[in-house]
Amino acid sequence: MAELSVRSVLVTGANRGLGLGLVQHFLRMPKPPQWIFAGCRDPKGQRAQELQNLASKHPNIIIIPLEVANPASIKAAAAKVGEHLGGSGLNLLINNAGMVKSNTLDTETLEDMSEVYTTNTIGPLLMGQAFLPLLKKAAQGSPGSGLSCSRAAIINLSSQGGSISSLLTWEIAQAPSYRCSKAALNMLSKCQSLAYKEHGILCVALHPGWVQTDMGRSLGLPPPVTLDDSVSPAHVSHGASHIPFRFLLLPSSSTSSSP
Ligand code: NDP
Repeated sequence: MAELSVRSVLVTGANRGLGLGLVQHFLRMPKPPQWIFAGCRDPKGQRAQELQNLASKHPNIIIIPLEVANPASIKAAAAKVGEHLGGSGLNLLINNAGMVKSNTLDTETLEDMSEVYTTNTIGPLLMGQAFLPLLKKAAQGSPGSGLSCSRAAIINLSSQGGSISSLLTWEIAQAPSYRCSKAALNMLSKCQSLAYKEHGILCVALHPGWVQTDMGRSLGLPPPVTLDDSVSPAHVSHGASHIPFRFLLLPSSSTSSSP
């Protein structure tokens, strides 16, 4: 199986946590991407300082203002990325940005359900739509016909918390809005895989492990997985090998054409 080799990648929510870890991972690759687009909703804010410092040392990092709950921001980001890429396409879209609300089934609200669903599920849907032309271009411009991350792919950061058969940490956090948004993201990933397969675009949902980030720590117990371990390469199935994560491929995201 060939090593991952991408010319361009976009990571949403790249200013901290797993998003920033992924950007750092791409920089450490033997052959780093020519373009690492780092989506960030407040590029000048305090929480983007580390990303700004990294970008000042690595000219292949382009910080893109991107609020995934805002369709206008997504459209503007797609236009900006397209400008940088010139005539070439985007190989890898990583829908990483996400949020959690630590509600219980009793305290969950319409507002929180809507906000979390908008960010965690509708965001990746709109991102896929907006970046489809650039992903298609990458697939068309790559040699070979198989599906792979080196050619063109959408990676959705889901969670085992959204798995119906294997609920993670129910005793620690109910978080219905988060669980429902990730269960829906799993189905979205399946729909994307079925619809975009004919364009040569691989679509998968991945669980990163319970990781030491702000979100991971918000459960109140120390997460077992370090950031570096989570973003390290791993061999996974379904043609997604050499995705740069030690992530589990969620079953519902299979790229097979059966429903
Ligand atoms: P963090 O809370 O540490 O970071 C979340 C990132 O998403 C931040 O960069 C944040 O930006 C960004 N973000 C949130 N909302 C939006 C928005 N509307 N538009 C743009 N950016 C936004 O989370 P993690 O790094 O831990 O998680 C990353 C992904 O991995 C998430 O999708 C999460 O659900 C998933 N995951 C994480 C697990 C864990 O244990 N950590 C376990 C399972 C899944 P800002 O700084 O501006 O808030």
